Amino acid sequence: MKFHLLTIFPDFFEGPFKYGVVARAAEFGALELHVHDLRNWTHDLHRTVDDRPFGGGEGMVLKPEPIFDAVETIWPQRGGKQKVILLSAQGRKFTQQVARELAANQELLLICGRYEGVDERVAQHLADEELSIGDYVLSGGELAAAVVVDAVARLLPGVVGNHESTVNESFEDDGMLDCPQWTRPADFRGWKAPDVLLSGNHAEIRKWRKQAALEKTARQRPDLR
Ligand code: SAH
Repeated sequence: MKFHLLTIFPDFFEGPFKYGVVARAAEFGALELHVHDLRNWTHDLHRTVDDRPFGGGEGMVLKPEPIFDAVETIWPQRGGKQKVILLSAQGRKFTQQVARELAANQELLLICGRYEGVDERVAQHLADEELSIGDYVLSGGELAAAVVVDAVARLLPGVVGNHESTVNESFEDDGMLDCPQWTRPADFRGWKAPDVLLSGNHAEIRKWRKQAALEKTARQRPDLR
């Protein structure tokens, strides 16, 4: 799968994409990451990407022309499995379910907003949808885009190995949280790992984990039940 990121801070992604599962997947070719500098599609000396909002008010708004130009250069023709996503606090809420949906595409192009946001014509006439990673306001779409890339990437075939399989995790299948986990030492400062997990009885362990996941979900996220 190919990910395109459109941003005024291309260097931002050097960190998030340099480590762990995403970096490994990019290395062995399970995914491609293309970071595009929005300023490449400006035509003035100052490489202007923003302007003052019509109607007045605080701050600046990202102009539509460079964003349309960029997307139309990257994809002169857009196919059904190529989705343009505008990161936006006003978008549909990003969840594991949405990550699964997006993972079925061949390419995603993520537009990162900045300042007070993006000219509304981008949402109306260019993006397939607006996505929000949660009900809070970030200062830019880059962090949100990195979250989306990470969550989608780990669902792609071959990206996460069997030993860290994605099917038993929180929000998958049954929609519940994953069960809590322990590792060595079995006794840490007098806090013990549950005996059953050390028993070697796999049927018992499975039963116990199911129950522990249920209890934790009820306690932490009653809304998921
Ligand atoms: N004035 C806007 C916020 C702009 S924040 C509002 O109140 O809705 C600047 C940029 O950060 C946005 O254009 C968007 O790309 C990004 N952003 C902020 N919060 C976000 C969120 N919860 N999810 C995804 N992107 C977000």
